Amino acid sequence: MYRVVFRKVLDFVFPPQCGGCERIGSGLCDTCLPPGVPLERRLPTLTVRALGLYDGALRRAILALKTGRRDVAEAFAVRMSSHIPTGAIVVPVPTTAARRRQRGFDGCELIALIARLACEARVSAGLVQVRGETQRGRSREARLTHRQRFRWRAPHLDGTRVILLDDVVTTGATLESCAATVRAAGGIVELAMTLASVG
Ligand SMILES: [Zn+2]
Repeated sequence: MYRVVFRKVLDFVFPPQCGGCERIGSGLCDTCLPPGVPLERRLPTLTVRALGLYDGALRRAILALKTGRRDVAEAFAVRMSSHIPTGAIVVPVPTTAARRRQRGFDGCELIALIARLACEARVSAGLVQVRGETQRGRSREARLTHRQRFRWRAPHLDGTRVILLDDVVTTGATLESCAATVRAAGGIVELAMTLASVG
């Protein structure tokens, strides 16, 4: 009850604003909200579903999310949660300390957290990056050859279905590397969900 009242006061003082076009009302307005049917991309061992192409209003909303906009994160979490199969665990792709310093904020973790609160999705932050290197600034070729390495630090997954969650998919190398790590820890991964896809 108090949470609801607090929330209403908060919405009154800081009304939600669309991350794509700044319109007041919600974190993503009806115009900027990506269509209900996600894009699908095939990677060697995974299907990636993205809400849309990394462009225009969606790109602006993702950049707003990365500045820590909770209203935008909530709007994304609601849209993503309708694509989460029941019984699966959502595992966010970890952000390195270096990447966090550059971007200031991990929108993906926030979306996963809100999805857990709002939709009772199961979330595990079990993936951690082994090396502190980042893909940012590397050429496409370098990204493909220099795969990031991850470690699973949570209990063995024992046949549990895992959905990987990341903000933007580019080559897909990071998602494939995460999937391999989760499979080695006993999880089944066939699907990754991202907010947007580059190409
Ligand atoms: Zn908008």
